[in-house]
Amino acid sequence: MGRQAGVLFEVNDDRCFGCAACVALCPVNALTLEGLLAIVHEPSCTHCEHCIPACPVHALSLVGDEKTYLFEVLA
Ligand code: SF4
Ligand code: SF4
Repeated sequence: MGRQAGVLFEVNDDRCFGCAACVALCPVNALTLEGLLAIVHEPSCTHCEHCIPACPVHALSLVGDEKTYLFEVLA
């Protein structure tokens, strides 16, 4: 699956409490745990959304990245 244009995968660090559910689910190992916070290596993330429903505190999301979007539309 290709990455979605104009969006970035984001971990809400106010919500994440480090349960690691998302880390275990990611098929491309884009997520790691640093202390009690999930960290995404965004360039590795395929935007598959597989991990998003697994987070009990809704800390994971794909968010619009206007600059990336404009770049890809105008390129
Ligand atoms: S969206 Fe997919 S590739 Fe990205 S971190 Fe979640 S499971 Fe991994
Ligand atoms: S599933 Fe949610 S709370 Fe658990 S480590 Fe991932 S982002 Fe943090």
